[in-house]
Amino acid sequence: MTAASQTPPGDNILLEVKGLKKYFPIQKGLLRRTVGYVRAVDDVSLYLREGETLGLVGESGCGKTTASRCIIRLYEPTAGEVWFKSRTLSDNGQPKPVNLVNLTREEITKVRQEIAMIFQDPINSLNPRMSVSDIIAEPMVIHGKYDPRHSEEVIVNLLQRVGLRPDHLRRYPHEFSGGQRQRIGIARALALNPRLVLCDEPVSALDVSIQAQTLNLLQDLQRDFNLSYIFVAHDLSVVQHISDRVAVMYVGKVVEVAASEELYQNPLHPYTEALLSAVPKPDPKYKSSRIIMQGDVADPSNPPSGCYFHPRCRYAVDLCKQKTPEFRQLKPDHWVSCHRAEELQLVGI
Ligand code: SF4
Repeated sequence: MTAASQTPPGDNILLEVKGLKKYFPIQKGLLRRTVGYVRAVDDVSLYLREGETLGLVGESGCGKTTASRCIIRLYEPTAGEVWFKSRTLSDNGQPKPVNLVNLTREEITKVRQEIAMIFQDPINSLNPRMSVSDIIAEPMVIHGKYDPRHSEEVIVNLLQRVGLRPDHLRRYPHEFSGGQRQRIGIARALALNPRLVLCDEPVSALDVSIQAQTLNLLQDLQRDFNLSYIFVAHDLSVVQHISDRVAVMYVGKVVEVAASEELYQNPLHPYTEALLSAVPKPDPKYKSSRIIMQGDVADPSNPPSGCYFHPRCRYAVDLCKQKTPEFRQLKPDHWVSCHRAEELQLVGI
């Protein structure tokens, strides 16, 4: 079944993903015959406004990282369209929508100046043999934008903007803490003045005390540089304050998407309700009512019939096993795929 595509409101849309799929073949035997597919991303449609943050949330293996990598074509999508308003491919300086899926290798390399990534693991994403200066300069060198007369000044400014000092330039990644290394990764991501930044669990590997500082820094940078973020995370507490809208993924599909406050207060999908129940509450008197989901995330190479969530859903009825719920709009800017979304009274935070 094809998921209903959300119609993006307004004309300030930077990115629109339509029916994105990524299937990885399962090969067996001496001849490596394809015997099935892992449907890592299965018919995902999303949009992102300019200057907005979209949180992309779900348990490990739900396809959120694969989806974000397909958007930038680090993975080749199996099907679908990814429309991005590009400046570099425009003839007249006005950004024009281009389908990233159809671009040649040369064209996608050009567009990647406008799309940066911040990775989860600041230790492995920085080359230990390169100095901080070389790490931040690397994207400029790759794209032929490095100019010794101006770039040194740009690098120093970036370093200071992320809270590090000019004397850090000649040091190496192992000389920094995890939080500082992630700041170096952020400075590198901003080196080419991107418009879209894909943040792949950028604070998951950091101590809780450092997470909040890094999130605040990302918010400040977004405001100052007019950045748009897709922010991938495995729990809803991390994206709560940084996201304007949140999309919840389960086994390769988006099961709910809404404006952030609406999603947290009025979830419509039982999976979202369960994720929300795990968000730590600041009030010590608050009695925890965490929903324990039965079993593990479904196997994307052999998903259950009907609603993929039905084996773990405490509200499941016979219909849920038989029929795939349609992804539909129930309120302005609030979409969900659950047969019982209208009748259930789910609990938010
Ligand atoms: Fe639960 Fe049924 Fe809704 Fe799926 S469709 S989330 S099983 S109630």
